[in-house]
Amino acid sequence: MTDARATIARDIAQALIRCPSVTPKEGGALDLLEALLSEAGFSCQRLVFGEPDEDRIDNLFARIGSGPPHLCFAGHTDVVPPGDEARWSHPPFAAEIADGELYGRGASDMKGGIAAFVAAALAHLGETKTAPKGSISLLITGDEEGVAINGTAKVLGWMADNGHAPDHALVGEPTNPTKIGQEIKIGRRGSLSGRVRIEGHQGHTAYPDRARNPVAGMIAALGAMLATPLDAGSAHFEPSNLQITSIDTGNPATNVIPASIEARFNARFNDAHDAASMEALLLERAAAALAGRELDHTFTFEPASPCFLTEPGPLSEMMSEAVAMVTGHTPALTTTGGTSDARFIKDHCPVIEFGLVNATIHQVDERVALADLETLTAIYGDFIARYFERVG
Ligand SMILES: [Zn+2]
Repeated sequence: MTDARATIARDIAQALIRCPSVTPKEGGALDLLEALLSEAGFSCQRLVFGEPDEDRIDNLFARIGSGPPHLCFAGHTDVVPPGDEARWSHPPFAAEIADGELYGRGASDMKGGIAAFVAAALAHLGETKTAPKGSISLLITGDEEGVAINGTAKVLGWMADNGHAPDHALVGEPTNPTKIGQEIKIGRRGSLSGRVRIEGHQGHTAYPDRARNPVAGMIAALGAMLATPLDAGSAHFEPSNLQITSIDTGNPATNVIPASIEARFNARFNDAHDAASMEALLLERAAAALAGRELDHTFTFEPASPCFLTEPGPLSEMMSEAVAMVTGHTPALTTTGGTSDARFIKDHCPVIEFGLVNATIHQVDERVALADLETLTAIYGDFIARYFERVG
């Protein structure tokens, strides 16, 4: 650690990891950030949504400066559970450092990313504790790893209603597979989960003519759903993908044809589809396979996560330049991986994602190399400087 900003980033990351903020618990993480940012001159708002004792979620919005351009950093302090703590080399909420790596749940996903951005922003503001131009804000939710109902989406609504709509947003999720600077996410695939249920007629396996077996129907329906690619991919996306995650009759007997069968699935879809067109495609394929089989079938879909794409442009260019300046190589612009809260932000302003390495996220011994934390802090610092030099 040579850079003063890096020391600050490390200290903030350690303090945040020591807050046991497993979704939906705040764990002291937002209190800590609020105190730190208030001290640095930010106006802070705690935004609590949801019903008490049910799905109540605490969020933090902090802004410094009042004019445009308004750059918003979005992240989450909630973390997934540590699992069996005995399997960790270092306790998951102790934030211990060993061999240049900081261990703890959330080290990469994404308390380290938040710490890097806060350290970079404080350095940018300098001693004056005022924004030299425009505004910087942080939208920090406690509900990203959960159902995400009372988190980023609702904070964005509050921001829009209260004169805090951002011009551009950066999500600090860990985007790099193995090495910092590999990938900037400019989009994410959508996600659609659902189940298909087929009703037949129960009977003895020795008298199949008196029954209607829904299992054969399910095999045909799922086979048709999977038979050919859902699309060929698009300019910035891989082909959409369907995975069957469960097939179940609940039938313990070997000599009974079951009355019904249910399968569950999840599709990750690109910008060639929206949720409705993906639903329609799956329905159509299953219906064609089940035609003439005298089996009733019903599809039930869960609320889908939309796909998003921020076309390569000034925002991704500025981040690419910052990454190249600090690491010496140009990152790829990708759209792979799971969903993120950027799916909500895209309705308000252009958004990209860049953060730490994601190799250990959600695993036992989640950790971040202190060198990576330092590199990310420098990249964020360079990006912030470029942004306020060039935008608005
Ligand atoms: Zn995350």
